[in-house]
Amino acid sequence: MSVIYERVAFIGLGLIASSMSHAMRRDKTVDVITGFARSAETREIAREIELCDIVTDTVVDAVIDADLVVLAVPVGAMEAVAKEIGPHLKPGATVTDVGSVKRAVYDAVNPHLPETVHFIPGHPVAGTEHSGPRSGFAELFENRWTLLVPNKNIDPEALDRLTRLWQAMGANVEQMDIDHHDLVLAVTSHCPHLIAYTMVGVADDLRRVTDSEVVKYSAAGFRDFTRIAASDPTMWRDVFMNNKEATLEILGRFTEELFALQRAIRQGDGEHLHDYFTRTRAIRRGIIEAGQDTDAPDFGRGKSR
Ligand code: NAP
Repeated sequence: MSVIYERVAFIGLGLIASSMSHAMRRDKTVDVITGFARSAETREIAREIELCDIVTDTVVDAVIDADLVVLAVPVGAMEAVAKEIGPHLKPGATVTDVGSVKRAVYDAVNPHLPETVHFIPGHPVAGTEHSGPRSGFAELFENRWTLLVPNKNIDPEALDRLTRLWQAMGANVEQMDIDHHDLVLAVTSHCPHLIAYTMVGVADDLRRVTDSEVVKYSAAGFRDFTRIAASDPTMWRDVFMNNKEATLEILGRFTEELFALQRAIRQGDGEHLHDYFTRTRAIRRGIIEAGQDTDAPDFGRGKSR
């Protein structure tokens, strides 16, 4: 493949940045990759595994001369990073992010960027419960969606370039309205995570079911919950702190439906339960037919390493 960006800088060197870096190197779509992470320990690991061409000791050194800067830190850390790098960005550069929430990131980052750069917020809808620089793999984005939420005045050439980069990494790219993104993801990702966290918490509290039983009989359903509940606590705290409105709306609806199902069980209303489960089964089939999952019970999170 031909080079799409000469110089790319990653701020944050975790699962998403390391997966992007592996994919870019595999496809030779970038000449030079620089990277920075908050802790000396992560930077050292990144050097050891040669994740980037240059791992810098300051965030500013990473972005100097970069044609594309990728903010791959937890959502709550985006603003501080933007503030620091803003004055040092190369005119004409593109800045993107990979945060799981988009409105809050846009509002936090945009005011700190000079008008000479193109800011195109993004979100690869792909992940695993693992984190850190060693957890990435080049195939993470293959046949997964990456959602870009540019504002309407964005330079079409900059948008096209970033789209081509994601496509080179195997992603299907779609543009979406920024607030709609947060609502859709509240339904498809954020609330399911909260429900998984809750279920694992309930099992942990319920001492009548011993730990060994939970482990032994976890094949059906619960195992998928435990995988999700093993996801990074900082990342998920930030998701809920920054997508409050949409997640609360969906959780409100969820609670209503849960009460209705609870009532059906209490009243022995098998028909209600059967109809409900028939409807949800069709949704699952639709996801498999759309190529977004296999029959394997892993909650559609794709490969995990
Ligand atoms: P991760 O594996 O936990 O890595 C986060 C990285 O950010 C680490 O290298 C961390 O450095 C660095 N970092 C944290 N605060 C920082 C700061 N203030 N300045 C510089 N670096 C900082 O995270 P991830 O899973 O790649 O997630 C990154 C972003 O992608 C998040 O916004 C998340 O919402 C989004 N996302 C995640 C997934 C997923 O499934 N994981 C999927 C889609 C999108 P240290 O190691 O030194 O702390």
